[in-house]
Amino acid sequence: MGKVKKKIKTIRIDLDKCNGCRACEMICSAFHANPKYSSNNPARSRIRMIRDPIRDVYVPVYAGEYTPAECMGRDKYIIDGKEYDECGFCRASCPSRDAFKEPDSGLPLKCDMCEDDPAQEKPLCVQWCLNEALIYEEREEEVEEETKIEDIEMGLESLIDKYGMQNIMDTMARISMSKKG
Ligand code: SF4
Ligand code: SF4
Repeated sequence: MGKVKKKIKTIRIDLDKCNGCRACEMICSAFHANPKYSSNNPARSRIRMIRDPIRDVYVPVYAGEYTPAECMGRDKYIIDGKEYDECGFCRASCPSRDAFKEPDSGLPLKCDMCEDDPAQEKPLCVQWCLNEALIYEEREEEVEEETKIEDIEMGLESLIDKYGMQNIMDTMARISMSKKG
């Protein structure tokens, strides 16, 4: 595989500016509803707030990769004397917890930087964060060519992990027959 130019999209998070308002969760879930903006439910958001107002803890965490198995160890951070939940900053959609899973289907959720056609000027969570805690940046880098994993592939992988390849193939064949009939 050769080198290609890739647009690197980054959201810088300024924790000092986040007040835990959760506007980012609301708009992300609304943007990804089907049809768009028809509903909102933070449990379907691809950004989740770690929120503990008594201790003044507000940490937005973005949904990352799907993983079929939880890792061997757990991590726990203490920053400025505040202790954060186990795995609190982890972005994975992982079997050890409910975060970053579609609540009805259990399928993994991953931040897609609000891919849209036509493209959004900035991701929706950035646009809706009135406190400017989320700052969007773009740059170009030369990287190794990679195969992009689409949402559908990630969802299928998690279904195969859960039900097995044969069950999925049999179900697909059954659905395809009923659609034809
Ligand atoms: S919209 Fe901004 S301030 Fe509000 S919770 Fe999200 S990151 Fe924090
Ligand atoms: S960038 Fe878009 S998809 Fe990602 S968390 Fe923000 S609103 Fe959701």
